[in-house]
Amino acid sequence: MVYIVQVLVEHPTHALDTAFDYLANEEIMGGVRVAIAFGYQRIIGYVLGCEYSSMTKEELEKIAGFKYRYISEIIDERPLLNQELQELSLTLAKLTLSPRISCLQAMLPPQLKPSTNKSVRIKYQKVIKVINKNIVVNTVKQQEAYQFLKEHADIPLKDFPYSRGLLNKLIEQKAVLVVDEEIYRDPYLDNQKKEHEFPLTPDQQKIVGSIISKINTYHTALIHGVTGSGKTEVYLHLSKYVIKNNKTVLMLVPEISLTPMMVNAFKHKFGKQVAILHSKLSSGERYDEYRRIINEEVKIVVGARSAIFAPLEKIGLIILDEEHDSSYKQETKPRYQTTQIARIRGKYHNCPVILGSATPSLESYSRGQKGVYDLYKLPKRINQFPLPEIELIDMAVEIRNKNYSLFSKAMKEKIQTCLDCGEQVILLLNKRGYATYVRCLDCGEVIKCPHCDVTLTYHKVDHKLRCHYCEHQIEMPKICPHCSGEQLKLVGTGTQKVEEQLETNFKGAKVIRYDVDTTKQKDGHQKLLDQFARKEGNILLGTQMIAKGLDFENVTFVGVLNADISLNIPDFRANERTFQLLEQVSGRSGRGKKEGTVMIQTYNPEHFVLQCVKNHDYLSFYQEEMRTRRLAIYPPYVHLVSILIQGKDETVVDQCALQIKAYLQKQLEDMVILGPANSLVYRMQDIYRKRIMIKFTNSKLLYPVLEKMSDFYNKKGNKVNVVCDFNPYNQ
Ligand code: ADP
Ligand code: ZN
Repeated sequence: MVYIVQVLVEHPTHALDTAFDYLANEEIMGGVRVAIAFGYQRIIGYVLGCEYSSMTKEELEKIAGFKYRYISEIIDERPLLNQELQELSLTLAKLTLSPRISCLQAMLPPQLKPSTNKSVRIKYQKVIKVINKNIVVNTVKQQEAYQFLKEHADIPLKDFPYSRGLLNKLIEQKAVLVVDEEIYRDPYLDNQKKEHEFPLTPDQQKIVGSIISKINTYHTALIHGVTGSGKTEVYLHLSKYVIKNNKTVLMLVPEISLTPMMVNAFKHKFGKQVAILHSKLSSGERYDEYRRIINEEVKIVVGARSAIFAPLEKIGLIILDEEHDSSYKQETKPRYQTTQIARIRGKYHNCPVILGSATPSLESYSRGQKGVYDLYKLPKRINQFPLPEIELIDMAVEIRNKNYSLFSKAMKEKIQTCLDCGEQVILLLNKRGYATYVRCLDCGEVIKCPHCDVTLTYHKVDHKLRCHYCEHQIEMPKICPHCSGEQLKLVGTGTQKVEEQLETNFKGAKVIRYDVDTTKQKDGHQKLLDQFARKEGNILLGTQMIAKGLDFENVTFVGVLNADISLNIPDFRANERTFQLLEQVSGRSGRGKKEGTVMIQTYNPEHFVLQCVKNHDYLSFYQEEMRTRRLAIYPPYVHLVSILIQGKDETVVDQCALQIKAYLQKQLEDMVILGPANSLVYRMQDIYRKRIMIKFTNSKLLYPVLEKMSDFYNKKGNKVNVVCDFNPYNQ
């Protein structure tokens, strides 16, 4: 008799999603990793289930017609994922039409992913444990050491102040024992000071009270609170309540490194009860945080998107701060929306899901208005600090007045005034690099990436042209690669150029540039922000990274150099994203006692998005944008699924796209099916990409059709690959 074990493997080259049968002499629990021989390789698989058979290996093989192999090694002693998360991986696979294995991969920290062979070193230290408190020891000196150990439970061996000889005597008498104990690498050890607590304002109190009254019921609450209205404090109070009642809290933020203030707020208040899941931690640190969660040593998990899968038990509250942020949508397999997962887990644990934002997504706000979500408002800043005054600056007028510089006259004066008063400035330009592209003045050609349909961006620091999609890079050419012309012109402006211009325009001002290029190292974000907090910089210049969660009370001016960049992106969410970006970045101004101002440079000062930003008028923005979405039939009035058809051979991609369209039209007669059209970036890393978009309201009919279609095209050896993306964020 043997056990037949179903093992899910990630095929090294193909996204297979079949479980393979292996044999074992003992029962293996679902959720455990095993090593197996697969072809000529040894790979790691994930056990789905296990069945007992009364037959022998040979008998089984006779029936099956093939040879079985035994599992080579059982890796884990207990399942990696509990029952809830195992089921969730199945739901996730169905919801996103992705292979189950990719869902498991997404749920586990890198060190535990079934495909990796690497194991992480668990760190141990030797500690002394008192195993019997009532021994009568031989000498006075021993008695002294024994007493010391009784008073200092589990002291590390290295900290034992008496001699080893003495310790050995105590061990001989079976009074104490030296054991190996796991130690954890704590990435946030240095900032664990306790902070004082504020009494809540009446507005905050009302929300906290109301949510607590339903704390044991699954429901979703949306907190629409303007920037600086004290949402963080609401999260902290609720969390404290929940952990006091012996439950746990899942606190999600868009990106950990961009929201150090939220992490610090939780660390200060809850110290070691908090685990931080963070992609920039070393793999050992991350694994340790994960084990602290599994071992139920923490009460609160703070993390970005993937932390939604944290293996917390007894969850009493799930919070998504800045719920509108696009980073909550995963853009690789499995393409899930974090809010959706949060609601599934909230339902399972019967606890509230809280979404917070100063600029809620239209999807969430409309649910709030319809009563699907409880809608709460914090319309005022703490201490009645006013929201900053916003001025729109028409750059067309500047040009008419022969000002061709990056800065309008008004903005230049304003920055100077701030510098003179010792106040700090935040500037936003949503483009990194130096110049956006290079054009040859002789033939008019623009230098493009050889692998992607985008222009290369000039980076002055190392004098290179770089592709922001595939990181392909070349030396800045001296002559045009097309016509050998010698007049290459740098066009457009990125943060590096602004930095240079700030330094020439404002002598002596220290500029801190904060973008992907300056924050690559491990603590890159924190270092620059700390510098700015210590006032070692006068101006913080950055891409949209500076819009989120920063709270510097000495910042009294925020300048947006070009608001039109995001307004002109061909995406139905362009207005919404622009509103969010501008409102969020404006919110960085005047958060202390001094009032703040904002200037936004644009060629479209009359645009309704900019007018609404100027008036801090979320509701008007919401109403106007909802009107547009209704007319054009876009979310939240319908759901979207985008079908991406990609492959190396352009003709094959083309043909398949047309075939798929025809098939879908036949199967889904009543639905609106758009395309196939070229993706926004048609060729990326030498892969051609076409898209079909379906607008739907009911997914019941849709799922089986899409499943069948993608199974058909994603077969091994096929020249195209089809990806379904529900609620897509990039086109
Ligand atoms: P938000 O997350 O809504 O942008 P924060 O939670 O960061 O706002 O709060 C803004 C500022 O107000 C922070 O400096 C915070 O410490 C302070 N604050 C929050 N709640 C209170 C309160 N009840 N009393 C006094 N200060 C508060
Ligand atoms: Zn490229």
